[in-house]
Amino acid sequence: MNPDMLWQPYLWQQVVWQQWQQRVQTNRVPHALLISGMPGTGKLALAKLIAAQQLCEQQRELPCQQCKSCLLFAAGSHPHLYDLSQALETHKLSVEVIREAIQFLTSTQVFSGPKIVILPEADTLSQASANALLKTLEEPLGQSLLILTTAELGRVLPTIRSRCQSIRLEATLTPALLTWLQTRFALTESQVKQRWFWSEGSPLRIDPDAIPDTMLSDFLSLGQGLQTCSPAALWALRSLTEKYNLNMLVLWWLRWIRLLTGPVVGVDAWPELHAVVLGGLPKALRAEVFTMVDSLQQLIHALMAGYQMNAALQFEALLYQWLMLNEVKVCV
Ligand SMILES: [Zn+2]
Repeated sequence: MNPDMLWQPYLWQQVVWQQWQQRVQTNRVPHALLISGMPGTGKLALAKLIAAQQLCEQQRELPCQQCKSCLLFAAGSHPHLYDLSQALETHKLSVEVIREAIQFLTSTQVFSGPKIVILPEADTLSQASANALLKTLEEPLGQSLLILTTAELGRVLPTIRSRCQSIRLEATLTPALLTWLQTRFALTESQVKQRWFWSEGSPLRIDPDAIPDTMLSDFLSLGQGLQTCSPAALWALRSLTEKYNLNMLVLWWLRWIRLLTGPVVGVDAWPELHAVVLGGLPKALRAEVFTMVDSLQQLIHALMAGYQMNAALQFEALLYQWLMLNEVKVCV
């Protein structure tokens, strides 16, 4: 059995699941679905659940887990399912990969029932890959269902987006979800709230296996260093590049600037962080902070464009720039 397979929607997916049920019951299942939501909202799990339900011989609200189809699905060997999430670890969504998926949809039927392709990270499709897919989206092949997922809806090519039915996943920390997360990840209420704040509302990203406590404390150290702007504290931060990639550290930095320039909600869930936030930006830096935001954003763009750079040196330069922005004003 596939241990990752979830046979029912997550708590925060239930409304969306009910809406999906209405589509199924009124025979309005589309040929293409686009599931979007932040990382940790269970997009792939929902895609698999929809696929399992569509393939199940029992045609109930939830897959029966007993029919031949469900058993094949659970074993990861259903001949009517083409799941690109496995291929994605080793390959990009190249034109060849997309063509193979389309060929799968056109190949001979083994069973009755639909053929399903799961295509995650739809935002990474190149123009050529998207073109290969467009024809299938425009002229669906028989009984087929394409389920695309993305954490970056804005980056999915409009030609793709406009041809898919959209499902948006979002979560709110209700008392029920709070209890669920405490049980699921063996965390206290305050730990859940702290991690919820950290993950910006992505329920599965609060998992201590995914985000260890050390990551939270490193994020806090960065904030403390930036807030106090003491040379010793800033210099101590250089070692962060040994543990995290530069892109992540720059995003953390930008988040700290947002936190320190407020207004921010939900910080009281994390007392140590709240204390740093209350300190605010050093006075001299307040007027100069946008210079820093520019530098950080330029670096992100360069990293996204694929520029190779020495992370340790770049990060050191940023720390130095932060220090200087503060010092210069102090001296004047
Ligand atoms: Zn079944």
